[in-house]
Amino acid sequence: MELIDGNEIASAVIEELSGRVAKFGNNKPCVAFVRVGEDPASVSYVNKKQKTAAKIGIESRLLVLPESISEEELLENVDQLNDDPEVHGILVQAPLPDHVDDRVIFNNVSPAKDVDGFNAANLGKLCQEDEAAFASCTPAGIVELIKRKGIETEGKHVVVLGRSLIVGKPAGMLLLRKGNPGNATVTYCHSRTPALRNHSLQADVLIAAIGRPQFVTEDMVRPGATVIDVGINRIPDETKKSGYRLVGDVDFEKVAPKTSFITPVPGGVGPMTVAMLMANTVKAYEQFSSPG
Ligand code: NDP
Repeated sequence: MELIDGNEIASAVIEELSGRVAKFGNNKPCVAFVRVGEDPASVSYVNKKQKTAAKIGIESRLLVLPESISEEELLENVDQLNDDPEVHGILVQAPLPDHVDDRVIFNNVSPAKDVDGFNAANLGKLCQEDEAAFASCTPAGIVELIKRKGIETEGKHVVVLGRSLIVGKPAGMLLLRKGNPGNATVTYCHSRTPALRNHSLQADVLIAAIGRPQFVTEDMVRPGATVIDVGINRIPDETKKSGYRLVGDVDFEKVAPKTSFITPVPGGVGPMTVAMLMANTVKAYEQFSSPG
């Protein structure tokens, strides 16, 4: 079994991006973060993203809006950023308040600045295998881990547990593409899939993205499979100061010995999500500077 160290691979990506940004001279990419309300997890995610941006030499802006903001006002703010030639990437931090339809917001971020890859235009381009598309960051991070570890996907069976628009669907779509990594046979499973274990046992590469703590048990994994655990779940733990610890969607201790490669939680897919956001921002800047 080999552990896929997401921190190490994310650091390598960040270092490479710093080199690319240094070559831009005084012109720097700029990403704008829009945070609505004071949700502690959102505050912490956006801080982390801003710190990573600064490390690379990417400028960032933070727009904090009140929880009570209407959908229309939020759209106006997004539009201003769409029109601002000094902003190359826009990220509207989820979750948004219940009275705001996040699909409407994401679809109104200019596709050229949609570094989160949630816009319908980018999801469509992803299906068209258009290299200019922005793939959403977590699935892009999964693919980068697979690529950098030299894990073969061509002709292999990838089973994705979860069909969300931000993780499951695009992860399968990326590995279905003609390319490397890619050319996989992809199966999706979700909450309505009966006998899910029959599918997971067929996986050469099993991607777990369902948000259920330690759902994937030893008997669900084929010996020698690669297991990518996307889940981030808090479970109570009295031995921790915080009162909880983070676990993935995979029962790591029991499953790991059966695998050829596995990502830990934390320290697997998580760090890659931020790294790929930065990669998308640099790509947005490059496409802005050299259109076509
Ligand atoms: P969603 O809740 O949007 O989607 C969960 C998916 O899992 C749905 O398709 C759902 O099926 C399916 N599902 C839920 N329960 C079961 C079950 N018992 N059996 C089979 N399928 C099931 O979650 P996300 O995709 O946003 O996130 C998934 C996990 O990944 C979460 O733990 C989240 O915290 C984590 N995450 C981690 C990131 C990172 O950076 N590492 C980034 C983003 C998310 P159905 O569609 O039928 O409801």
